[in-house]
Amino acid sequence: MRLRHLAMALSNLPPHPQRDASLEQYATEGDFAARWIAEIVEQGDLETETRVVDLGAGNGILGIGCLLAGADSVLLVEQDPQCVHEYEGVEWLIGDVKGWSGTDVDLVIMNPPWGFQKAKADRPFLELAFSSPAKSIHLLHSAGATHPPALAKELGWRGEVLLEGTFRLPANFEHHKQGIAETAVKCWRFVR
Ligand code: SAH
Repeated sequence: MRLRHLAMALSNLPPHPQRDASLEQYATEGDFAARWIAEIVEQGDLETETRVVDLGAGNGILGIGCLLAGADSVLLVEQDPQCVHEYEGVEWLIGDVKGWSGTDVDLVIMNPPWGFQKAKADRPFLELAFSSPAKSIHLLHSAGATHPPALAKELGWRGEVLLEGTFRLPANFEHHKQGIAETAVKCWRFVR
């Protein structure tokens, strides 16, 4: 699928309701998601036999992007049932990320809570991914966060930054009452 079509398809998904600030619901925009996924394909990490798990999936934009880019199967793990919608070809696991088995996966993709509202909210996501049998892990996180690559290294993974960009935080967050605020993000690729 061409980049422009992927971006359009992802932009047209039902939007993330972003109602629960305590869950740190910072939704990825379609254009950025498409650029990131194109980069993942470029790396050779996403092929027709690839089983993808999207942790903290929100409306599923990242996992569905992987499906449209050719993944074999996609599991979307999300705690907030309000995010869930029917989408052919994906499965949902609704509940805390800790309910994911951590198996049957080739590629983990995630934009988890960053731990801004609740300290270390991202920790179970990172630990689960880095202890899974995945061949690659793709993580979108705040650009200033140094703990993901540090933890990855400790657990035997090598990291590189595939993409950098700015991310719009919605106005409904406590510390952004003035309106949309932007923050810098990095997309990491981890392999063993
Ligand atoms: N991946 C989506 C959403 C990112 S926001 C995107 O990039 O657009 C982070 C998501 O993680 C939110 O949808 C939030 O509801 C979910 N989340 C937060 N804590 C969670 C937990 N403990 N278990 C599962 N999902 C969680």
